[in-house]
Amino acid sequence: MNVSEHFTGGDGTRAVRAGLPEPVKYEPTLPGPVFAAHFHLPGEPTGPYTYGRDENPTWTHLETAIGELEAPGEDGVETLVFASGMAAISSVLFSQLRAGDTVVLPSDGYQVLPLVRAQLEAYGIEVRTAPTGGDAQLDVLDGAKLLWIESPSNPGLDVCDIRRLVEAAHARGALVAVDNTLATPLGQRPLELGADFSVASGTKQLTGHGDVLLGYVTGRAGETMTAVRRWRKIVGAIPGPMEAWLAHRSIATLQLRVERQNATALVVAEALRQRPEVTGLRYPGLPGDPSHKVAAQQMRRFGCVVSFTLPSRARADRFLEALRLVDDATSFGGVRSTAERRGRWGGDAVPEGFIRLSVGAEDPEDLVADLLRALEESAD
Ligand SMILES: *Cc1c(COP(=O)(O)O)cnc(C)c1O
Repeated sequence: MNVSEHFTGGDGTRAVRAGLPEPVKYEPTLPGPVFAAHFHLPGEPTGPYTYGRDENPTWTHLETAIGELEAPGEDGVETLVFASGMAAISSVLFSQLRAGDTVVLPSDGYQVLPLVRAQLEAYGIEVRTAPTGGDAQLDVLDGAKLLWIESPSNPGLDVCDIRRLVEAAHARGALVAVDNTLATPLGQRPLELGADFSVASGTKQLTGHGDVLLGYVTGRAGETMTAVRRWRKIVGAIPGPMEAWLAHRSIATLQLRVERQNATALVVAEALRQRPEVTGLRYPGLPGDPSHKVAAQQMRRFGCVVSFTLPSRARADRFLEALRLVDDATSFGGVRSTAERRGRWGGDAVPEGFIRLSVGAEDPEDLVADLLRALEESAD
């Protein structure tokens, strides 16, 4: 039997074996991408593989892999992969909500959520928002059909008590989805914390090389996941086989990458903490961070994103330009460090000098030296 299926050991072992099919003589360990719009299908058109928008064996392997990481050893869990994180998010929201329903979103979540909000409202769905920190979403839950949590939130890195919010939401008959992008399944397992859906962008640390857009939804098999699958079929927001295969290949190194990147993120946060021009430093893994206590209860690893504020927009721009090992680019989670002045996008309620830094797999001492040098060189 395939060891990955009910393996209860370490994350590294689980990551390298996740989703591998039974070994077949003369076949590769991870079969290559299956490029197929349709499959041979004589007679009654029954599955598993009929048409390329509905199913693909390369997705199946990847979905199995993600399911093993999101809910190790749990039976009856289903994962669906999508063309992007937004495709996955939209599939949950738009498959579960109807006109007249109420949904609670975070007010400090991913920057596309306000656009989603406008679309939900156009369909007659009431949208309420509250901040992630202080479990403030609790106060607006009454009558909601779905609670959307993003913890840690992006880019502010606030954390809420997922278990507490889930209990309150379930007591009111609401479903709960958690955006698990920043934590990855090796950092946090929302289903174990009681959530109905773990939803994520695989574009970030899950795949980690900055070369793939991907999303997924993991949930308990049943009516709700059937509706999500139906939505994927209707909208056709499916990943290409090449992207799905690249993602699966990347998951083999997920544990190595998160260990390295997350450990370095803590080192970087400690170094930045010493600097007088750095304010508002946030990293949930930093003892003393406002999120740390709750994060430590529910997270197994704290992510690779550090955020902080420099005194002005000009200073932040000079700092980013002075960096040599950190690319000025959006997104996060990749093996190459990136940083950006988040305010350049508009939409996030952040100061002009706010920097979101994604820590890569460089040697920690090189990265810290580069950051400190760029801080010196960008001083007024
Ligand atoms: C990037 C991101 C998304 C969207 O993912 P895409 O793959 O870019 O569509 C959603 N949620 C969070 C928290 C993200 O960081």
